[in-house]
This record gives sequence, structure tokens and C-alpha cells, in this order.
Amino acid sequence: MLQGKTALITGSTSGIGAGIAEALAAAGCRVVLNGFGEAAAIAAQVTDLGQRHGVEAVHLHADMTRPEEIAQLMAQAAERFGAIDVLVNNAGIQHVAPIEAFPPEKWDAILAINLSSAFHTIRAALPGMREKGWGRIINTASTHGLIASPGKSAYTAAKHGIVGLTKAVALEAAGSGVTCNAICPGWVLTPLVQKQVEARAAADGIDEAEAKRRLLAEKQPSGAFVTTEQIGALAGYLCSDAAAQITGAALNVDGGWLAQ
Ligand code: NAD
Repeated sequence: MLQGKTALITGSTSGIGAGIAEALAAAGCRVVLNGFGEAAAIAAQVTDLGQRHGVEAVHLHADMTRPEEIAQLMAQAAERFGAIDVLVNNAGIQHVAPIEAFPPEKWDAILAINLSSAFHTIRAALPGMREKGWGRIINTASTHGLIASPGKSAYTAAKHGIVGLTKAVALEAAGSGVTCNAICPGWVLTPLVQKQVEARAAADGIDEAEAKRRLLAEKQPSGAFVTTEQIGALAGYLCSDAAAQITGAALNVDGGWLAQ
């Protein structure tokens, strides 16, 4: 379905980004991975993806807090593969603390990675997509793009921001063949959430299984984690022709979290 196309997925060395890269590679897309990790583990991920799906896979480093590194990433990708067809802004971090105790440097980092990085990648990628008359921009937002939780001021602000950015870009690109959408996952058991599981277990003096049960019970009516495969499948769908008229949407995949 995506043969001959190139996808750049930020924050794809782990969790949801890796799940999206997997789904797009399975659809025949060349994938440009980005994110932190051990060099050997990243090399193994790149080789494995490429071999299993018979697609070209590479990893390009860029710290998504740094606009100059993002510009370099976009230029390198374009130089090697031509204009990017599918841009997935997924890199993200979390920090949980009441606002009075929220470290300002964590606020700045969350806003930079979870929101501003998408501005920098989109402005670089959109002209090439317009020229081709086809493009897909997918932003990994969150249920926190639409509602809040205590302790997550920066994350909620950044995720609401990226839902807004999604809508503005969708309008600017409307009619050009380029769509821009946000995916809003509920709890997905990735390293980002595992930290919250461990913090909850420590705070409540319970084991990890009970901490997971309590986190889910509070927010996610299905009582089960969303999987990275399920998010990947939605990203794949958004790249299909069937989704050509879906743009500016914030699509929740959250076990009923936002229905409450
Ligand atoms: P994760 O920790 O498994 O993956 C985060 C990825 O971002 C990694 O590849 C990491 O290396 C990369 N990254 C972090 N800082 C970076 C930086 N400065 N520059 C470049 N890459 C960087 O987390 P995840 O849960 O897979 O999160 C991915 C996205 O999904 C985030 O935007 C997150 O907010 C969002 N999300 C996660 C959940 C969840 O329940 N896990 C729910 C909703 C939204």
C-alpha cells in the first residue's frame, strides 16, 4: 500500500513510535527512525525491520529539543530519500508533579519535545508534500490533548497544543492531498507509562500488577492497556486512501477514557 513512500517517525526507538514504524514498514513503506537508545539496540531494530518487511530502514539521530538538530534531520532525510511522504510526530516525554513543584526545566523540555518539535518538522516537510500532492502528517497526542489530569500540567498543555496545531495545519493543507491528524491514546504500557506504574506502586505500597490495575481503573473503563500494534494499525489506516477525507481529527484510542 505504501510502496515507494518514505515515512519519518520521531521517537520510534521505543513504544508507540516503534509500533507505528512496524505498521508502516509492514505496509511497504521505507522508514526513517529517530530516537534515543543504545547504538547496538537501534542497529538491531533497523536491521530487523528492514529484513522482515523487505523495506529500507534507517535511523537518523536528532534531539527533538533542538531546532537546529531537527532542521538537520529533515535535511538529511530529504537528501537521502527525497521529500518525506508520511511524517509522524511521536517523540514525547512525561513528568508528573503538582504545578508548584514542577521543575521549570521539565516544563521547557516537555513543551519542546511534545509540541514545538512538531512545528519544526511540519514546516520543513509540508512544502515537499504539497509539491507531490500527497502527504500524511500524524501527531501522537494523547487523551491529555482533550482533557487533563492532576500532576500533568506541562504534558496536558503540550498535548492540547498539538491537537490545536493539528487542526491549524489540516486547514492550511486542506485540498492539497495532505492530511494532518492526531491520535489520542489512553494508557499504553510503554517505558513512559512503566515509570508511572512504578511510581504508583511505590506511593501506594503495592505490587506492580496492582498499580497497573489501579491506574487503569481510574481512567480507562476497558480495564486493559491499548497496544502499540493498535496505534500502529490506526496510523496505517490514516495513510490509506480510505482516510483521504479524515483531516484535522483527534482520534481517541483509549478504552473509553474520553467517553466519561
Ligand atoms: P517511550 O518512552 O516508549 O518512547 C518515547 C520515544 O521518544 C523514544 O524513542 C525516545 O528515545 C524518544 N525521545 C524522547 N526524548 C527525545 C528527544 N529529546 N529527542 C528525540 N527522541 C526522543 O514512550 P511512548 O509511550 O511510546 O510515547 C510516545 C508518544 O506517545 C509520546 O508523545 C507520548 O506522549 C504519547 N503517548 C503515550 C501514551 C502511553 O500511555 N504510553 C499515551 C498517550 C500518548
